This record gives sequence, structure tokens and C-alpha cells, in this order.
Amino acid sequence: MAKKGNDNQIKLRCEVCKTVNYFTTRNKKKLKEKLEMKKHCPVCKKHTLHKEGK
Ligand SMILES: [Zn+2]
Repeated sequence: MAKKGNDNQIKLRCEVCKTVNYFTTRNKKKLKEKLEMKKHCPVCKKHTLHKEGK
């Protein structure tokens, strides 16, 4: 498995139903705080807060 630079793949988990709906990457050196973003959850069928999960 080849790793590219400092980008880590992270999961975005719905805070309501705890389902992992999105994957994204981030540069560890640029972003130190945990990601939180509003995204559409197909399980909840609405926009919910998604947080970084492991
Ligand atoms: Zn949800």
C-alpha cells in the first residue's frame, strides 16, 4: 500500500445515527482540529452534523 504524503483518509460519521456516510482526506499538518460538517445523511434523510471518526 502506497501512502501519499501527509494525507490521511478519514471517515465522516453522522452524529445522529452513527453511520459512516462519507470519506475524505486531510493534511495532518494543515488541519489539527477534528472535522465537523453538515452533510446529508441518507439514513436520517436530512442534513446532520457529521464528525470525524476512526
Ligand atoms: Zn444519520
